[in-house]
Amino acid sequence: MSYDDIRTHQRMLQDELRTEGLRQAIDATVREGDAVLDFGCGTGILSFFARKAGARTVYAVDRSPILKVAQQVAADNGITGIHFISGDGDSVALPEKVDVVVSEWMGHFIFLEDMLRPLGRLIESYLRPGGLCVPRTVTPTMGLVTDKLLHDEYAFFSRRRYGIDFSHVAKWPYYDPELRHLHPGQVDVTTMTGESIELRQARDVAVVSGEMIAERALTVYALAGWFTSEFAPGVEIRTGPHDPETHWKQVVFPLAEPIQVAEGSTVKVKIYPLRIGPARVHAWRWAIESSNERRLYDSVMHHLWLHR
Ligand code: SAH
Repeated sequence: MSYDDIRTHQRMLQDELRTEGLRQAIDATVREGDAVLDFGCGTGILSFFARKAGARTVYAVDRSPILKVAQQVAADNGITGIHFISGDGDSVALPEKVDVVVSEWMGHFIFLEDMLRPLGRLIESYLRPGGLCVPRTVTPTMGLVTDKLLHDEYAFFSRRRYGIDFSHVAKWPYYDPELRHLHPGQVDVTTMTGESIELRQARDVAVVSGEMIAERALTVYALAGWFTSEFAPGVEIRTGPHDPETHWKQVVFPLAEPIQVAEGSTVKVKIYPLRIGPARVHAWRWAIESSNERRLYDSVMHHLWLHR
């Protein structure tokens, strides 16, 4: 996936729950005459919404050449008042403080993209006191996957295939979180929420923790992660297995060794979004603990093996 690729942007724009939700939230938040920052403007859609909602000026920032598309589309539609700034959120400077920051920065299970840290810097430096953000809050949510079929699917390389021994990579699918639309039946109904990210005080997140008490005995084959978000008061999106599908899907964190959870026991789950090396390559670490049993996995080892 690359943000230079129009198809990536099509996928997001086609997700009407996302895009219409953001439009409603921008309409409800931006006031006549506001200055607005759109961080990661992509095709410019949120900047256009902000202008239509009455913004005086929009600063539209993106580091991808897709910014040129946003500029051209603005011109083609006669939309003025947008300052397009080609640059990285880590270093870009704005000429004034803004009343509203809009940003569709959430990756799969929120953290697959590295936008929260630069967004936090921009909000701290450029959102005026009392200013507002769209989205307002984003809340990580986790569930326990109890469908054994998923586990069996990840065992694909454990058997000879086409007469070939793939045992070297037999475990790898278990260490590689998978993006997937889960069916409600694959996830135990109980879900755990982590700490909400309040955008106005956004800081990078090192770990998401959740806890629950099992209402019955379970065999857990994987964890799953998704999120809910308040785009604006009264405008919410939920991206779980029980909700209408969005392009965010859910992220499945397999457990190479399933874990038994006894009825009435406490289950603790932790998911760590990792950044490796100067390039801040993304990886995950995930853990589950129940009744003195613990599983801890990460997606680092086999990547290191491949790229050593
Ligand atoms: N706002 C658009 C696009 C969202 S996708 C929409 O809602 O459809 C996120 C965009 O943020 C991408 O275009 C990507 O190039 C940009 N982006 C990601 N990290 C960035 C960074 N650190 N600095 C500048 N732009 C960034």
